[in-house]
Amino acid sequence: MELGAPFMARSTMKFVRISKMEFDQIRGLYESVMSQACHGLFFREGHAFGEIIAQIARTDDGDFLTTCGRLIKGRGWIDTIEFEGNVVTTTGSMEVSDCQEVTCHRVRGMLKAIYEMNYDKKFACFEDECESQGAGRCRFRLVEMASKE
Ligand SMILES: [Zn+2]
Repeated sequence: MELGAPFMARSTMKFVRISKMEFDQIRGLYESVMSQACHGLFFREGHAFGEIIAQIARTDDGDFLTTCGRLIKGRGWIDTIEFEGNVVTTTGSMEVSDCQEVTCHRVRGMLKAIYEMNYDKKFACFEDECESQGAGRCRFRLVEMASKE
């Protein structure tokens, strides 16, 4: 089979559906092998997702962050998302679990990627409150970094 453009178009439009239960089990597996170190990998995964989402959003005429939020929501990562300057709040994150820690590492990575694309600057992204800790929503804070390297 020739790997031409039609094949690429078909293969990049494929999706898998993963249940929350399966998702939590995979997180447990990674944490059992790598402990907290896997959280950095989850964050980098999220950043990679965010870069692709940002590329898609750039082709849309609407407000960039709003479009990114719609795409993140559409992929099932969150139920709601609100942007207020450098603070982003979400509810219903796929990454929430009952563990009293902040857990939304992929969402944090996605937000970093889309803010960097939107402002063409480097950002750090912190999750200050998480539904996993019993908060009413997850609250992320984007902080501009000194220089883009
Ligand atoms: Zn969270």
